[in-house]
Amino acid sequence: SLIVLWDERLQQHIPIAASGLLHQVTRMLQVETGDLPFTNQPISIEQPITIEDAAASPLISPEISATLDCSSLLALPLTENDHFLGTAFLIYHNRKVFSEHDRTLGKQAASLIRLSIARLRAFKASEGMTKELSALQIATAALLNTLDLESLLGQILDAAISAIPSAEKGRLHLVARETGQLQIRAALGYTDPRIHTFRGADLTSIPGQVVQNSEPMLINDVHADPNSPYKNDIPEMRAIESMIVAPLILGDQTLGAISLDAYTRYAFSQSDLNLLVSFATTATAAIQNAQLHTEVQKQAITDPLTGLYNRRGFFELGRREVERARRFDRTLTVMIIDIDLFKDINDQHGHLFGDTVISGIASQFLRDLRQIDLIGRYGGDEFTVLFPDTTIEEARSIAEKIRIDVEGLDILDSFNGPIKKVTTSQGLASYPENSRTLDILKEHADQGLYLAKEEGRNRVGIVKA
Ligand code: GH3
Ligand code: MG
Repeated sequence: SLIVLWDERLQQHIPIAASGLLHQVTRMLQVETGDLPFTNQPISIEQPITIEDAAASPLISPEISATLDCSSLLALPLTENDHFLGTAFLIYHNRKVFSEHDRTLGKQAASLIRLSIARLRAFKASEGMTKELSALQIATAALLNTLDLESLLGQILDAAISAIPSAEKGRLHLVARETGQLQIRAALGYTDPRIHTFRGADLTSIPGQVVQNSEPMLINDVHADPNSPYKNDIPEMRAIESMIVAPLILGDQTLGAISLDAYTRYAFSQSDLNLLVSFATTATAAIQNAQLHTEVQKQAITDPLTGLYNRRGFFELGRREVERARRFDRTLTVMIIDIDLFKDINDQHGHLFGDTVISGIASQFLRDLRQIDLIGRYGGDEFTVLFPDTTIEEARSIAEKIRIDVEGLDILDSFNGPIKKVTTSQGLASYPENSRTLDILKEHADQGLYLAKEEGRNRVGIVKA
């Protein structure tokens, strides 16, 4: 006897059990459509089929007939609620004439086999589901507590891959707020570092389509698509054969997509995709949670008018810089900048225009300073800058440049026309000559500023240590 089951996922007839002489051949047996009764699609016949002379029957191929040494055959379809599961075959090496009794016995046997298969499958499914659900429950609780976005994204992939065993690797794509482009923000199981800067993850890619349509996708055979975007430089990406991708949807916005990858075709089932889709909801909530947290944290140290660090931000980050200078035995310089006679500007042009002057000057600082310089608005018309790895003499020439550039700025008052030049005064102090703490350095720089104001403004003041 031989049992052949229909595998929905592989779309193939798979021999799964045999008894008698056939045992050795079962594993090698390849059953193609039309080789045996009930292997033709679509299957409509539900009654057993008897073949008394295999050699003369069009329902059994000569190759299979020879392999099985089959003269006569009883084929019993296995169905479950109109769903075709496969076929059980009773094979006779000698010619046999089947009686009505044989057919009835066969039907009873088929229904026992069918029941066993259904029970086993239900058991396996529930076992798998319990495992998946508990893995997800644990992961979900942890995700909502993770506020650091980078580590959160890694944890999301980790949880998804543990819950869906067919997944070998995973990628998390997010739409970049500034550019609208899809970027791989986390990858798990990939070793090629190029995956993190992979450009092919644009909107024409599979995750790109998922984001655009806000619809999940199950891809059974990535390479069946002649336009497969996975023909790229990264071997690990080219080797992907199947994938499931779920969108990360927040309200009417799609933040990105999570995709799980496998190196075999038909690795994922529809229920894997369903699980990923429901998991994506939790993942999205956790991502939003972390993004809000990051935003609030950023706001707490940012000056809203200029976008520069506020006093708190400047001191928090500045103290770290001083600590680093101490540890590595480096120098650094602190600069204070104060707008000259700013009260007059406010009085003559109004407070609102005063604000325009402040943000115009802040933009000039950003143009003149380096990425690593820490720039803060200390309050009112006063700014602070920390130059890492910079001596007081080096800082003095930068201060001069800023002073001249600000003096040359054209700031237009829309009611009263262009205003006379706005100037600034600066004070400088350096670590370690002037002090070893940021607070005292700031006081020293203030003294330099005071000197500059006293000597007539629009200049740089330094009080010697
Ligand atoms: P000095 O050259 O000595 O610095 O003269 P000054 O007029 O600039 O004097 P001071 O720095 O003490 O004055 C700062 C003024 O800035 C006082 C305040 O009314 C104004 N100010 C503080 N914060 C803001 C702000 O956010 N917007 C505007 N428009 N004005 C502000
Ligand atoms: Mg001032």
